[in-house]
Amino acid sequence: MSRVGIFGGTFDPIHQGHMIIAEQVAQALGFARVIFVPGGVPPHKTASSVKAGPEDRFDMVEAAVEGNDKFSVDRVEVDVGRPMHSVETVPLVKERRGDPGDEWFFVSGADEVSNLLSWREPDRLLEEAAMVAATRPGYDISNLEHLEKALDNFDRIIPVECTRVDISATGIRRMLAKGESVRYLVPEGVYEIIHDRGLYGARKDEDEKQRREGSLSWRKEA
Ligand code: ATP
Repeated sequence: MSRVGIFGGTFDPIHQGHMIIAEQVAQALGFARVIFVPGGVPPHKTASSVKAGPEDRFDMVEAAVEGNDKFSVDRVEVDVGRPMHSVETVPLVKERRGDPGDEWFFVSGADEVSNLLSWREPDRLLEEAAMVAATRPGYDISNLEHLEKALDNFDRIIPVECTRVDISATGIRRMLAKGESVRYLVPEGVYEIIHDRGLYGARKDEDEKQRREGSLSWRKEA
């Protein structure tokens, strides 16, 4: 029997804040695996607030998890191609990726967990998978009283203290639009995809490519 985490998100783009909570939650709770599930268009975000297409966001998540044997990506939401609620996604991922006896957890940031009452069927979701509330700067998980009152399965919510990293996808998109560097805020492979494809208004010129290749060849020689 192993513990498996499902980490759903828009990942528009995936960034180091996501990677750090995936790693630290996996360690704290002894996960054998973490399955990242990039969303199509999530029901709580309007289509226009999602800036990169599902395939680009999927490729970025794939690049981010490369090299970590515990981490993988699942295409289920991308392939379904319509907004999906976590209560629909989790059973599908369990069916596709699970082994008998696996114990399932849904990983989420504290900001999302405190809004859990606006999700579809939160109690049923908590039956399908325990929910991990990873700390995030600016959000208080010490006060979840409103959830305790409303949810039968409140005891299936597990707060996990993570290194607080104040990075958001919104902030990264803003920086790129202003021509600022987001290097090291996102994994290297994600940074490359953003610039190769000119996502979020990122520079897609030869200078940027040469600058990157210069430092990449330095990395290979080291
Ligand atoms: P946006 O700024 O576009 O809302 P985001 O940075 O919150 O995006 P999502 O893809 O929506 O990224 O996040 C997926 C999950 O990761 C959510 O549960 C969110 O709470 C959590 N998360 C994102 N960034 C952080 C962070 N820096 N620290 C902790 N949790 C985070």
